[in-house]
Amino acid sequence: MPAIVYKQLDLPVAWVRGIRINCEHCQQPYTYIVGKEKVFSTTGVPLLSNDHNMTTSALKASIKTIRKDCRKNKQGEGMCPHCRNYQNWMVARSRRSKVIRGIFWGGLLGFIPGLILWLGVFSEKSSLGPISLGAMIVLCAILGVFIALRWGLTYGPQPENFEDAGSMTDNAVLELLRSSEEEELDPILAWHLASGRKLYQKGINLGLGFTDESGTLDLPHELRTDYILDQFEESVNKRK
Ligand SMILES: [Zn+2]
Repeated sequence: MPAIVYKQLDLPVAWVRGIRINCEHCQQPYTYIVGKEKVFSTTGVPLLSNDHNMTTSALKASIKTIRKDCRKNKQGEGMCPHCRNYQNWMVARSRRSKVIRGIFWGGLLGFIPGLILWLGVFSEKSSLGPISLGAMIVLCAILGVFIALRWGLTYGPQPENFEDAGSMTDNAVLELLRSSEEEELDPILAWHLASGRKLYQKGINLGLGFTDESGTLDLPHELRTDYILDQFEESVNKRK
């Protein structure tokens, strides 16, 4: 029986942008970086589909996803460099995700001692067995929440010895733009790397400039996320 074996091309794409907002605590503007990544896959038929065309179609798919992502407000998290607070919505979201994780892992871990209690300590007929299992799961889930919250963001000013390399004041951004122009680097990707984050060795890394959510800055168009995305889309459409 003849079989068709499809071939697959996986293209990892990372996109990073700086988001400028007004701090809700001190009302001063600052910029923080947000990096996202995704692997875009296309399938083709060997001998019929070449890698170049498959890469082009993966790139086209990536543009759709990136545009959708960049239209969303309130992405990522970064500490205000002026007053050392995270925005309340950043903290709330971080804590929410930690609570869910704590309940899940705590509850899952509570299952084992609960089962041991049921099967090992109480007899199978005793109604204490299922109760002990339920109680153990609830107890461990609560414990899990407390432990997980220690890793979440916290309300209020952060300690003096804490640094968030992903946030900058306007002056620091100007300095970054100056130095990256001198070294002919993409400012956002340079910042992303300097703050200890990683980029793809084999894949596409897109520096998407800045998105000004504060609405108080007249950014030159070549630094704007939407303009850079338009340029990127144009270059993908030109691929022959
Ligand atoms: Zn602030």
